[in-house]
Amino acid sequence: MLTTSVPGDTVSHMRLSIVAIAALLVASAGCSAPGEESSERPRVMATTTQVGSVAREVGGDAIDLTVLMAPGIEAHDFELAPEHAAAIERADLILMSGAGLEDWLVDTLEGANAAAQVHDLSDGIDLRMADEDEPGHGHDEDEPGEEGSHDDDDDDHGTEEPDPHYWLSAPNAIVMVENARDALLTLGADEAGMTSRADELIGRLETADAEIRSLLGQLPDDRRTVVTDHDALGYFLDEYGLEFGGSVFPSLDVSSEPSARQIEALVDDIRAAGVTAVFTESSVDPALARAVAEEAGARLVDDPIYTDSLGPEGSGADTMDGMLLHNARVIHAGLGGD
Ligand SMILES: [Zn+2]
Repeated sequence: MLTTSVPGDTVSHMRLSIVAIAALLVASAGCSAPGEESSERPRVMATTTQVGSVAREVGGDAIDLTVLMAPGIEAHDFELAPEHAAAIERADLILMSGAGLEDWLVDTLEGANAAAQVHDLSDGIDLRMADEDEPGHGHDEDEPGEEGSHDDDDDDHGTEEPDPHYWLSAPNAIVMVENARDALLTLGADEAGMTSRADELIGRLETADAEIRSLLGQLPDDRRTVVTDHDALGYFLDEYGLEFGGSVFPSLDVSSEPSARQIEALVDDIRAAGVTAVFTESSVDPALARAVAEEAGARLVDDPIYTDSLGPEGSGADTMDGMLLHNARVIHAGLGGD
């Protein structure tokens, strides 16, 4: 008797609490929706740390900003918690990174009946497609009998997906700032302040861009191949004239672990190209990269580069220009520049 009635009770309690939570969410969303009483400042929600940083700098005190992602997390399969859903429902304006990064947000927005305007900061950026950077294509002619590097044959995600990591080049970061500024200006708050703060940030990004070009331009031709944790650096390498030597995780995200055969092929590529360093990323567990570096006789650079996330506050990589400069310096040093 006991055993049959207890589970029934538990179930009804659970139902009750789910209903209660749902009611609370609806109530809290409902009372703040028009944005009148509770806060005079417009509520802005940013998805990634990069978008959040740009919004914070440009919006300043004129906006009430919520950033969904915390520093250090890997942005591709973000798990939306109930408080995030509530923030989305309360927002007057949502800024997203775009280029396919936040598919979860698109679903949530459809379900949330949100009144917010959504702005995609990748608008106007010339996006790379996922297949443009097959390992092995970057290297030169010969290497006759190499078997390992013909990954393209069995690389069957033939669908053209954009590479979402566009923020890793300074010119793209500038477009991002311009898009964020234009979106925030639609709120009608502190227009002069927002415009001048955006100009200031754009100026810093232009300075960073020049410094990165000068720094990486000094690297000799035989030390310009970059191997990293996941395939995030395509825009950075294209912009600054470096070569892609492969990535430990063979895709644009880290959802699929590399197979033993893929690891072997990467190790062969690293040896064949004479790559001496494997870079790690703040948002990816470096264990596999360490194993690859050891196997290939390359050095693991454990000062991480920031790809999917900016650095934590105070790290120097917690702004867009700071992050780009940090990455360029770590890559320059790691490739043996002086
Ligand atoms: Zn990524």
